[in-house]
Amino acid sequence: MITDLIDVHAPAIDVQGLVKTFGDNEVLKGIDLTVTAGEVVCVIGPSGSGKSTLLRSVNLLEEPTGGKILIEGIDITDPDIDIDGVRTRIGMVFQSFNLFPHMSVVGNLTIAQRRVKKRGKAESEKIAHEMLARVGMAHKADAYPTQLSGGQQQRVAIARALCMNPDMMLFDEPTSALDPELVGEVLQVMRSLADEGMTMLVVTHEMGFAREVGSRLIFMDGGHIVEEGDPREVLGNPQHQRTKDFLSRVL
Ligand code: ADP
Ligand code: MG
Repeated sequence: MITDLIDVHAPAIDVQGLVKTFGDNEVLKGIDLTVTAGEVVCVIGPSGSGKSTLLRSVNLLEEPTGGKILIEGIDITDPDIDIDGVRTRIGMVFQSFNLFPHMSVVGNLTIAQRRVKKRGKAESEKIAHEMLARVGMAHKADAYPTQLSGGQQQRVAIARALCMNPDMMLFDEPTSALDPELVGEVLQVMRSLADEGMTMLVVTHEMGFAREVGSRLIFMDGGHIVEEGDPREVLGNPQHQRTKDFLSRVL
């Protein structure tokens, strides 16, 4: 059992010298990153700097070219590892919500529980309703995704991830596809998750969220972590010219 291997004292995420190339394009050039249980680490940086590739590597949607990634002490780059077992411990939320359009909200929330967790219909529906309540969407359990706003769909996508009882959540620009007036409701859900102690790695352009909710802020550029630290420090007093240039463009 994978659970027997988990080291509760190990960091949630421990990325060591991660290198990723696509052909001859080296996109990640040696990333070292440790996320401790309960931390909310936000990642900012220009388009193309490797943020999504980093997140996707953490649950092996991308195969690392070099380096190591340990999840709760387990080396997931070890070819013998049960990666599906590790993946169920990591929830991922993307910019696009990727809900199944032909299924109701509850259907979207139960399918992976039934197939991957082997839960029965009643149990998976009970958990689905609990998680919908957590994101303020209990009243839309029987709706179809097209009947929901983008913000509502993203909250459903977060609930869907929570149904798998992940130990940590990865967010890749979860509000970037939303109309501005819908961003707040999604950030509010993420903030409540953080308050409940969820370990989170969040790629975002929402500097207010990073400042107020983040325990640490990382600035990436050109496949490197250029700067990291307390979000207020990094945003208010950036040390590197590249960070200053980026922030002056976005703030
Ligand atoms: P960010 O999320 O910071 O915008 P990405 O991680 O998406 O950056 O992309 C970093 C670089 O990697 C870009 O140059 C992009 O074109 C390249 N890249 C990402 N995914 C692939 C892929 N599947 N195949 C080839 N190149 C890719
Ligand atoms: Mg990206």
